[in-house]
Amino acid sequence: MITQEKLTSFIEANPILEDVISLKPITWLNPQKKLMKEMPEFSIGMEEIIAVEKLWERFAPFFMAAFPQTIPSKGILESPLVEINAMKKVLNQQHPKIEGKLYLKCDNALPIAGSIKARGGFYEIMHYAENLALKEGLITKNDDYSKFNSKEFRQFFNQYEIGVGSTGNLGLSIGIISAKLGFQVAVYMSADAKKWKKDLLRERGARVIEFSGDFSEAIEEGRKQTLAKSNAYFVDDENSKELFLGYTLGALRIARQLKEQGVTVDKEHPLFVYSPCGVGGSPGGTAFGLKQIFGDAVHCFFVEPTHSPAVLTGLVTGAMSKISVQDFGIDNQTEADGLAVGRPSKFATEISSHVISGNYTIEDSKLFMLLTQLIDAENIFLEPSATAGLIGPQRIAMTDYAEKHNLSLQNATHIAWATGGDLVPDENRRFFYEKGKSLLKNH
Ligand SMILES: *Cc1c(COP(=O)(O)O)cnc(C)c1O
Repeated sequence: MITQEKLTSFIEANPILEDVISLKPITWLNPQKKLMKEMPEFSIGMEEIIAVEKLWERFAPFFMAAFPQTIPSKGILESPLVEINAMKKVLNQQHPKIEGKLYLKCDNALPIAGSIKARGGFYEIMHYAENLALKEGLITKNDDYSKFNSKEFRQFFNQYEIGVGSTGNLGLSIGIISAKLGFQVAVYMSADAKKWKKDLLRERGARVIEFSGDFSEAIEEGRKQTLAKSNAYFVDDENSKELFLGYTLGALRIARQLKEQGVTVDKEHPLFVYSPCGVGGSPGGTAFGLKQIFGDAVHCFFVEPTHSPAVLTGLVTGAMSKISVQDFGIDNQTEADGLAVGRPSKFATEISSHVISGNYTIEDSKLFMLLTQLIDAENIFLEPSATAGLIGPQRIAMTDYAEKHNLSLQNATHIAWATGGDLVPDENRRFFYEKGKSLLKNH
Protein backbone atom coordinates (compact mmCIF):
# COMPACT_ATOMS: atom_id res chain seq x y z
CA MET A 1 0.00 0.00 0.00
CA ILE A 2 1.13 3.54 -0.82
CA THR A 3 0.36 6.01 1.97
CA GLN A 4 -1.31 9.39 1.48
CA GLU A 5 1.89 11.09 2.63
CA LYS A 6 3.88 9.24 0.04
CA LEU A 7 1.41 10.25 -2.69
CA THR A 8 1.57 13.89 -1.63
CA SER A 9 5.35 13.85 -1.73
CA PHE A 10 5.30 12.28 -5.22
CA ILE A 11 3.03 15.07 -6.43
CA GLU A 12 5.13 17.79 -4.84
CA ALA A 13 8.28 16.43 -6.45
CA ASN A 14 6.56 15.94 -9.84
CA PRO A 15 3.92 18.63 -10.49
CA ILE A 16 3.06 17.00 -13.85
CA LEU A 17 1.17 14.41 -11.77
CA GLU A 18 -1.49 17.05 -11.04
CA ASP A 19 -2.41 17.11 -14.73
CA VAL A 20 -2.16 13.32 -14.90
CA ILE A 21 -4.57 12.98 -11.97
CA SER A 22 -7.01 15.45 -13.52
CA LEU A 23 -6.88 13.31 -16.69
CA LYS A 24 -5.38 16.00 -18.92
CA PRO A 25 -3.36 14.73 -21.90
CA ILE A 26 0.30 15.33 -21.09
CA THR A 27 3.70 14.82 -22.72
CA TRP A 28 6.54 13.82 -20.44
CA LEU A 29 10.23 13.63 -21.34
CA ASN A 30 12.17 11.01 -19.39
CA PRO A 31 15.00 12.58 -17.36
CA GLN A 32 16.45 9.08 -16.69
CA LYS A 33 16.99 8.28 -20.39
CA LYS A 34 20.58 7.14 -20.93
CA LEU A 35 22.92 7.53 -23.85
CA MET A 36 24.28 4.18 -25.03
CA LYS A 37 27.62 4.83 -23.39
CA GLU A 38 25.87 5.33 -20.03
CA MET A 39 23.54 2.35 -20.35
CA PRO A 40 23.65 -0.17 -17.48
CA GLU A 41 24.29 -3.88 -18.16
CA PHE A 42 21.02 -5.72 -18.72
CA SER A 43 20.34 -9.43 -18.30
CA ILE A 44 19.59 -9.65 -22.05
CA GLY A 45 21.20 -8.35 -25.23
CA MET A 46 21.58 -8.86 -28.98
CA GLU A 47 22.51 -12.52 -28.54
CA GLU A 48 19.15 -13.28 -26.90
CA ILE A 49 17.26 -11.40 -29.63
CA ILE A 50 18.94 -13.52 -32.28
CA ALA A 51 18.11 -16.66 -30.28
CA VAL A 52 14.43 -15.60 -30.40
CA GLU A 53 14.60 -15.41 -34.17
CA LYS A 54 16.25 -18.85 -34.37
CA LEU A 55 13.45 -20.35 -32.30
CA TRP A 56 10.84 -18.83 -34.63
CA GLU A 57 12.75 -20.32 -37.58
CA ARG A 58 12.68 -23.78 -35.99
CA PHE A 59 8.91 -23.47 -35.55
CA ALA A 60 8.25 -22.26 -39.12
CA PRO A 61 7.38 -25.81 -40.35
CA PHE A 62 4.91 -26.11 -37.46
CA PHE A 63 3.19 -22.87 -38.49
CA MET A 64 2.95 -23.97 -42.12
CA ALA A 65 1.39 -27.27 -41.04
CA ALA A 66 -0.94 -25.90 -38.36
CA PHE A 67 -1.86 -22.52 -39.90
CA PRO A 68 -1.91 -22.85 -43.72
CA GLN A 69 -2.32 -19.07 -44.08
CA THR A 70 1.38 -18.83 -43.16
CA ILE A 71 2.53 -20.99 -46.11
CA PRO A 72 3.12 -18.02 -48.47
CA SER A 73 5.55 -16.48 -45.93
CA LYS A 74 7.17 -19.92 -45.33
CA GLY A 75 5.89 -20.08 -41.76
CA ILE A 76 7.41 -16.73 -40.75
CA LEU A 77 5.01 -14.26 -39.12
CA GLU A 78 5.68 -10.62 -39.94
CA SER A 79 3.71 -7.49 -40.73
CA PRO A 80 4.23 -4.73 -43.31
CA LEU A 81 5.84 -1.35 -42.67
CA VAL A 82 4.02 1.20 -44.84
CA GLU A 83 4.44 4.90 -45.47
CA ILE A 84 1.15 6.72 -44.81
CA ASN A 85 1.31 9.99 -46.72
CA ALA A 86 -2.45 10.47 -47.00
CA MET A 87 -2.79 10.17 -43.21
CA LYS A 88 0.13 12.54 -42.74
CA LYS A 89 -1.76 15.12 -44.82
CA VAL A 90 -4.84 14.68 -42.64
CA LEU A 91 -2.81 15.06 -39.45
CA ASN A 92 -1.08 18.12 -40.90
CA GLN A 93 -4.39 19.97 -41.03
CA GLN A 94 -3.49 20.66 -37.41
CA HIS A 95 -0.39 22.30 -36.00
CA PRO A 96 2.45 21.64 -35.53
CA LYS A 97 3.10 20.04 -38.93
CA ILE A 98 4.85 16.69 -39.08
CA GLU A 99 8.35 17.01 -40.48
CA GLY A 100 10.00 13.95 -42.02
CA LYS A 101 8.43 10.69 -43.15
CA LEU A 102 5.52 8.96 -41.41
CA TYR A 103 5.23 5.16 -41.38
CA LEU A 104 2.81 2.70 -39.85
CA LYS A 105 4.09 -0.65 -38.51
CA CYS A 106 1.05 -2.81 -39.24
CA ASP A 107 1.02 -5.38 -36.43
CA ASN A 108 -2.76 -5.23 -36.75
CA ALA A 109 -2.03 -7.52 -39.71
CA LEU A 110 0.25 -10.00 -37.94
CA PRO A 111 -1.06 -13.41 -39.03
CA ILE A 112 -3.23 -15.58 -36.74
CA ALA A 113 -3.42 -13.31 -33.66
CA GLY A 114 -4.02 -9.96 -35.39
CA SER A 115 -2.03 -8.05 -32.78
CA ILE A 116 1.46 -7.43 -31.44
CA LYS A 117 0.73 -10.17 -28.86
CA ALA A 118 1.63 -12.69 -31.55
CA ARG A 119 5.24 -11.65 -30.96
CA GLY A 120 5.47 -12.00 -27.18
CA GLY A 121 2.65 -14.45 -26.49
CA PHE A 122 3.44 -16.97 -29.22
CA TYR A 123 7.13 -16.82 -28.36
CA GLU A 124 6.63 -17.56 -24.67
CA ILE A 125 4.44 -20.59 -25.42
CA MET A 126 6.77 -21.96 -28.13
CA HIS A 127 9.71 -21.53 -25.79
CA TYR A 128 7.87 -23.47 -23.06
CA ALA A 129 6.65 -26.18 -25.45
CA GLU A 130 10.11 -26.64 -26.96
CA ASN A 131 11.67 -27.05 -23.50
CA LEU A 132 9.10 -29.67 -22.53
CA ALA A 133 9.60 -31.59 -25.78
CA LEU A 134 13.39 -31.45 -25.50
CA LYS A 135 13.30 -32.66 -21.91
CA GLU A 136 10.96 -35.51 -22.82
CA GLY A 137 13.27 -36.50 -25.69
CA LEU A 138 10.50 -35.99 -28.25
CA ILE A 139 12.62 -33.73 -30.40
CA THR A 140 16.06 -32.27 -31.03
CA LYS A 141 16.67 -28.73 -32.24
CA ASN A 142 17.63 -30.07 -35.68
CA ASP A 143 14.35 -31.94 -36.24
CA ASP A 144 11.48 -30.91 -38.45
CA TYR A 145 9.16 -29.03 -36.09
CA SER A 146 6.05 -29.87 -38.08
CA LYS A 147 6.06 -32.75 -35.56
CA PHE A 148 4.57 -30.24 -33.13
CA ASN A 149 1.40 -30.49 -35.21
CA SER A 150 0.98 -34.22 -34.55
CA LYS A 151 -1.46 -36.20 -32.42
CA GLU A 152 1.43 -37.58 -30.37
CA PHE A 153 2.64 -34.10 -29.41
CA ARG A 154 -0.86 -32.84 -28.69
CA GLN A 155 -1.45 -35.78 -26.36
CA PHE A 156 1.80 -35.06 -24.58
CA PHE A 157 1.08 -31.34 -24.14
CA ASN A 158 -2.47 -32.10 -23.02
CA GLN A 159 -1.07 -33.13 -19.63
CA TYR A 160 -0.06 -29.51 -19.09
CA GLU A 161 -2.09 -26.39 -18.50
CA ILE A 162 -1.28 -22.83 -19.52
CA GLY A 163 -2.79 -19.96 -17.55
CA VAL A 164 -2.84 -16.28 -18.45
CA GLY A 165 -4.54 -13.11 -17.24
CA SER A 166 -5.62 -10.71 -19.96
CA THR A 167 -7.69 -7.72 -21.02
CA GLY A 168 -8.17 -9.54 -24.35
CA ASN A 169 -5.40 -9.67 -26.89
CA LEU A 170 -2.80 -11.50 -24.81
CA GLY A 171 -5.45 -14.07 -23.91
CA LEU A 172 -6.32 -14.44 -27.59
CA SER A 173 -2.74 -15.03 -28.68
CA ILE A 174 -1.90 -17.40 -25.81
CA GLY A 175 -5.24 -19.19 -26.14
CA ILE A 176 -4.97 -19.73 -29.89
CA ILE A 177 -1.39 -21.03 -29.94
CA SER A 178 -1.69 -23.11 -26.76
CA ALA A 179 -4.89 -24.83 -27.87
CA LYS A 180 -3.32 -25.58 -31.26
CA LEU A 181 -0.34 -27.26 -29.59
CA GLY A 182 -2.69 -29.35 -27.45
CA PHE A 183 -2.27 -27.63 -24.08
CA GLN A 184 -5.17 -27.11 -21.76
CA VAL A 185 -5.55 -23.38 -21.46
CA ALA A 186 -7.29 -21.12 -18.97
CA VAL A 187 -7.68 -17.41 -19.71
CA TYR A 188 -8.51 -15.15 -16.77
CA MET A 189 -10.29 -12.15 -18.25
CA SER A 190 -10.90 -8.72 -16.73
CA ALA A 191 -14.35 -7.12 -16.84
CA ASP A 192 -13.35 -4.80 -19.70
CA ALA A 193 -12.47 -7.69 -22.04
CA LYS A 194 -14.81 -7.68 -25.03
CA LYS A 195 -17.44 -10.37 -25.46
CA TRP A 196 -16.26 -11.32 -28.95
CA LYS A 197 -12.79 -12.06 -27.59
CA LYS A 198 -14.21 -14.42 -24.97
CA ASP A 199 -16.44 -16.11 -27.58
CA LEU A 200 -13.56 -16.60 -29.98
CA LEU A 201 -11.39 -18.12 -27.26
CA ARG A 202 -14.07 -20.57 -26.17
CA GLU A 203 -14.58 -21.55 -29.79
CA ARG A 204 -10.84 -22.37 -30.02
CA GLY A 205 -11.04 -24.63 -26.97
CA ALA A 206 -9.82 -22.33 -24.19
CA ARG A 207 -11.47 -22.13 -20.77
CA VAL A 208 -12.45 -18.50 -20.09
CA ILE A 209 -12.79 -17.36 -16.49
CA GLU A 210 -14.45 -13.95 -16.15
CA PHE A 211 -13.84 -11.40 -13.41
CA SER A 212 -15.81 -8.38 -12.36
CA GLY A 213 -12.60 -6.52 -11.51
CA ASP A 214 -9.80 -5.07 -13.62
CA PHE A 215 -6.67 -6.56 -15.14
CA SER A 216 -4.66 -6.68 -11.91
CA GLU A 217 -7.35 -8.74 -10.19
CA ALA A 218 -7.71 -11.10 -13.14
CA ILE A 219 -3.96 -11.64 -13.31
CA GLU A 220 -3.63 -12.14 -9.55
CA GLU A 221 -6.35 -14.77 -9.43
CA GLY A 222 -5.01 -16.44 -12.57
CA ARG A 223 -1.54 -16.61 -11.09
CA LYS A 224 -2.86 -18.10 -7.85
CA GLN A 225 -5.05 -20.74 -9.47
CA THR A 226 -2.46 -21.72 -12.07
CA LEU A 227 0.50 -21.98 -9.73
CA ALA A 228 -1.52 -24.14 -7.33
CA LYS A 229 -1.51 -26.90 -9.98
CA SER A 230 1.51 -29.12 -10.49
CA ASN A 231 1.54 -29.33 -14.29
CA ALA A 232 0.70 -25.73 -15.03
CA TYR A 233 2.59 -22.73 -16.40
CA PHE A 234 1.57 -19.11 -15.92
CA VAL A 235 2.30 -16.43 -18.51
CA ASP A 236 2.82 -13.48 -16.19
CA ASP A 237 2.25 -10.23 -18.04
CA GLU A 238 3.27 -8.27 -14.94
CA ASN A 239 6.77 -9.77 -14.86
CA SER A 240 7.67 -11.89 -17.87
CA LYS A 241 11.13 -11.96 -19.41
CA GLU A 242 9.99 -14.34 -22.17
CA LEU A 243 7.17 -12.06 -23.32
CA PHE A 244 9.60 -9.15 -23.36
CA LEU A 245 12.13 -11.13 -25.39
CA GLY A 246 9.45 -12.13 -27.88
CA TYR A 247 8.69 -8.47 -28.52
CA THR A 248 12.34 -7.54 -29.10
CA LEU A 249 12.40 -9.41 -32.41
CA GLY A 250 10.05 -6.79 -33.86
CA ALA A 251 12.97 -4.38 -33.72
CA LEU A 252 15.27 -6.61 -35.76
CA ARG A 253 12.56 -7.06 -38.38
CA ILE A 254 11.71 -3.37 -38.60
CA ALA A 255 15.40 -2.53 -39.03
CA ARG A 256 15.52 -4.86 -42.06
CA GLN A 257 12.34 -3.36 -43.48
CA LEU A 258 13.72 0.17 -43.16
CA LYS A 259 16.87 -0.91 -44.96
CA GLU A 260 14.87 -2.58 -47.75
CA GLN A 261 12.91 0.64 -48.19
CA GLY A 262 16.11 2.66 -48.40
CA VAL A 263 15.54 4.55 -45.15
CA THR A 264 18.71 5.69 -43.42
CA VAL A 265 18.87 5.87 -39.64
CA ASP A 266 21.83 7.64 -38.05
CA LYS A 267 22.70 10.74 -36.06
CA GLU A 268 21.65 13.04 -38.92
CA HIS A 269 18.55 10.93 -39.72
CA PRO A 270 16.82 10.21 -36.41
CA LEU A 271 14.19 7.50 -36.03
CA PHE A 272 11.18 8.16 -33.77
CA VAL A 273 8.95 5.29 -32.67
CA TYR A 274 5.60 5.76 -30.90
CA SER A 275 4.11 2.67 -29.22
CA PRO A 276 0.78 2.14 -27.46
CA CYS A 277 1.52 0.95 -23.95
CA GLY A 278 -0.34 -1.27 -21.48
CA VAL A 279 1.91 -3.00 -18.95
CA GLY A 280 4.87 -1.83 -21.04
CA GLY A 281 6.03 -5.23 -22.28
CA SER A 282 5.47 -4.85 -25.99
CA PRO A 283 6.65 -1.22 -26.30
CA GLY A 284 9.53 -1.93 -23.90
CA GLY A 285 10.69 -5.00 -25.80
CA THR A 286 10.64 -3.27 -29.15
CA ALA A 287 12.31 -0.14 -27.75
CA PHE A 288 15.04 -2.23 -26.14
CA GLY A 289 15.64 -4.08 -29.41
CA LEU A 290 15.73 -0.84 -31.42
CA LYS A 291 18.32 0.59 -29.03
CA GLN A 292 20.52 -2.47 -29.52
CA ILE A 293 20.42 -1.83 -33.27
CA PHE A 294 20.27 1.95 -33.71
CA GLY A 295 21.69 3.17 -30.39
CA ASP A 296 21.31 6.90 -29.79
CA ALA A 297 19.82 7.47 -33.25
CA VAL A 298 16.47 6.01 -32.21
CA HIS A 299 14.02 7.78 -29.90
CA CYS A 300 11.23 5.67 -28.40
CA PHE A 301 8.03 7.04 -26.88
CA PHE A 302 5.16 5.24 -25.14
CA VAL A 303 1.48 6.28 -25.30
CA GLU A 304 -1.15 5.54 -22.69
CA PRO A 305 -4.82 6.50 -22.25
CA THR A 306 -5.41 9.44 -19.88
CA HIS A 307 -7.40 7.00 -17.69
CA SER A 308 -4.68 4.29 -17.59
CA PRO A 309 -1.25 5.92 -17.34
CA ALA A 310 0.32 2.95 -15.53
CA VAL A 311 3.87 3.03 -16.89
CA LEU A 312 3.91 6.82 -16.82
CA THR A 313 3.09 7.00 -13.11
CA GLY A 314 5.54 4.18 -12.39
CA LEU A 315 8.35 6.05 -14.19
CA VAL A 316 7.56 9.58 -13.01
CA THR A 317 7.46 8.52 -9.36
CA GLY A 318 10.26 5.98 -9.70
CA ALA A 319 8.04 3.53 -7.82
CA MET A 320 7.75 1.37 -10.98
CA SER A 321 5.46 -1.63 -10.47
CA LYS A 322 4.92 -0.77 -6.80
CA ILE A 323 2.40 1.92 -7.72
CA SER A 324 -0.89 1.76 -9.62
CA VAL A 325 -3.06 4.41 -11.25
CA GLN A 326 -5.76 3.58 -8.69
CA ASP A 327 -3.37 4.75 -5.94
CA PHE A 328 -3.77 8.20 -7.51
CA GLY A 329 -7.53 7.84 -7.75
CA ILE A 330 -7.40 7.29 -11.52
CA ASP A 331 -10.12 4.85 -12.61
CA ASN A 332 -8.41 2.75 -15.34
CA GLN A 333 -11.61 2.98 -17.44
CA THR A 334 -10.85 3.18 -21.15
CA GLU A 335 -12.25 1.89 -24.44
CA ALA A 336 -8.68 1.07 -25.41
CA ASP A 337 -8.93 -2.40 -23.92
CA GLY A 338 -5.37 -3.40 -24.90
CA LEU A 339 -4.12 -0.52 -22.74
CA ALA A 340 -6.56 -0.81 -19.82
CA VAL A 341 -3.84 -1.55 -17.31
CA GLY A 342 -3.37 0.02 -13.89
CA ARG A 343 0.05 -1.35 -12.94
CA PRO A 344 3.19 -1.69 -15.08
CA SER A 345 5.28 -4.81 -15.73
CA LYS A 346 8.20 -5.05 -13.33
CA PHE A 347 10.66 -6.66 -15.72
CA ALA A 348 9.87 -4.37 -18.65
CA THR A 349 9.61 -1.08 -16.81
CA GLU A 350 12.97 -1.39 -15.08
CA ILE A 351 14.60 -1.65 -18.50
CA SER A 352 12.38 0.98 -20.15
CA SER A 353 13.24 3.52 -17.48
CA HIS A 354 16.74 3.81 -18.98
CA VAL A 355 15.79 3.36 -22.61
CA ILE A 356 12.73 5.43 -23.48
CA SER A 357 12.69 9.09 -24.37
CA GLY A 358 9.27 9.82 -22.91
CA ASN A 359 5.61 9.12 -22.66
CA TYR A 360 2.42 10.95 -23.62
CA THR A 361 -1.22 10.35 -22.80
CA ILE A 362 -4.22 10.49 -25.11
CA GLU A 363 -7.99 10.74 -24.62
CA ASP A 364 -10.27 7.94 -25.79
CA SER A 365 -12.22 10.32 -28.05
CA LYS A 366 -8.99 11.06 -29.95
CA LEU A 367 -8.36 7.33 -30.47
CA PHE A 368 -11.74 6.97 -32.19
CA MET A 369 -11.21 10.05 -34.35
CA LEU A 370 -7.83 8.70 -35.49
CA LEU A 371 -9.41 5.31 -36.19
CA THR A 372 -11.96 6.90 -38.52
CA GLN A 373 -9.43 9.23 -40.17
CA LEU A 374 -7.07 6.32 -40.89
CA ILE A 375 -9.82 4.31 -42.58
CA ASP A 376 -10.85 7.31 -44.68
CA ALA A 377 -7.27 8.22 -45.61
CA GLU A 378 -5.52 4.86 -45.94
CA ASN A 379 -8.26 2.23 -45.75
CA ILE A 380 -6.53 0.60 -42.79
CA PHE A 381 -8.59 -0.54 -39.80
CA LEU A 382 -6.98 -0.50 -36.36
CA GLU A 383 -8.54 -1.20 -32.99
CA PRO A 384 -8.81 1.94 -30.81
CA SER A 385 -5.68 1.15 -28.72
CA ALA A 386 -3.57 0.80 -31.82
CA THR A 387 -4.11 4.31 -33.17
CA ALA A 388 -2.47 6.05 -30.20
CA GLY A 389 0.98 6.43 -31.81
CA LEU A 390 -0.29 8.46 -34.77
CA ILE A 391 -0.17 11.81 -32.99
CA GLY A 392 3.32 11.13 -31.59
CA PRO A 393 5.26 13.29 -34.07
CA GLN A 394 3.08 16.30 -33.29
CA ARG A 395 3.15 15.78 -29.56
CA ILE A 396 6.94 15.62 -29.51
CA ALA A 397 7.24 18.60 -31.86
CA MET A 398 5.42 20.63 -29.20
CA THR A 399 8.24 19.95 -26.72
CA ASP A 400 11.90 21.03 -26.79
CA TYR A 401 13.06 17.43 -27.30
CA ALA A 402 14.51 17.88 -30.81
CA GLU A 403 16.22 21.12 -29.89
CA LYS A 404 17.68 19.71 -26.71
CA HIS A 405 19.12 16.70 -28.53
CA ASN A 406 20.17 18.66 -31.57
CA LEU A 407 18.00 16.63 -33.96
CA SER A 408 17.03 17.58 -37.49
CA LEU A 409 13.33 16.79 -37.83
CA GLN A 410 13.29 17.34 -41.62
CA ASN A 411 15.42 14.20 -41.92
CA ALA A 412 13.41 12.23 -39.37
CA THR A 413 11.53 8.98 -39.87
CA HIS A 414 8.51 8.52 -37.62
CA ILE A 415 6.93 5.13 -37.02
CA ALA A 416 3.55 4.79 -35.33
CA TRP A 417 3.35 1.20 -34.10
CA ALA A 418 -0.13 -0.10 -34.94
CA THR A 419 -0.58 -2.86 -32.41
CA GLY A 420 -3.81 -4.62 -33.28
CA GLY A 421 -7.04 -4.83 -35.23
CA ASP A 422 -7.43 -7.69 -37.69
CA LEU A 423 -9.48 -10.00 -35.46
CA VAL A 424 -12.09 -7.35 -34.59
CA PRO A 425 -15.48 -8.42 -36.02
CA ASP A 426 -17.13 -6.28 -38.73
CA GLU A 427 -19.96 -5.20 -36.50
CA ASN A 428 -17.55 -3.74 -33.91
CA ARG A 429 -15.53 -2.08 -36.67
CA ARG A 430 -18.62 -0.27 -37.97
CA PHE A 431 -19.49 0.87 -34.46
CA PHE A 432 -15.98 2.26 -33.87
CA TYR A 433 -15.96 3.99 -37.26
CA GLU A 434 -19.32 5.66 -36.68
CA LYS A 435 -18.28 6.74 -33.22
CA GLY A 436 -15.15 8.42 -34.62
CA LYS A 437 -17.18 9.99 -37.42
CA SER A 438 -19.63 11.62 -35.05
CA LEU A 439 -16.83 12.80 -32.74
CA LEU A 440 -15.09 14.42 -35.74
CA LYS A 441 -18.32 16.18 -36.74
CA ASN A 442 -18.75 17.72 -33.30
CA HIS A 443 -15.08 18.48 -32.92
C1 LIG B 1 -1.29 -5.44 -25.33
C2 LIG B 1 -1.48 -4.35 -26.28
C3 LIG B 1 -0.69 -3.20 -26.23
C4 LIG B 1 0.32 -2.94 -25.14
O1 LIG B 1 1.21 -3.97 -24.83
P1 LIG B 1 1.77 -4.11 -23.33
O2 LIG B 1 2.77 -5.19 -23.40
O3 LIG B 1 0.60 -4.44 -22.46
O4 LIG B 1 2.33 -2.77 -22.98
C5 LIG B 1 -0.92 -2.23 -27.19
N1 LIG B 1 -1.86 -2.37 -28.13
C6 LIG B 1 -2.63 -3.46 -28.21
C7 LIG B 1 -3.64 -3.56 -29.30
C8 LIG B 1 -2.47 -4.49 -27.30
O5 LIG B 1 -3.25 -5.57 -27.37
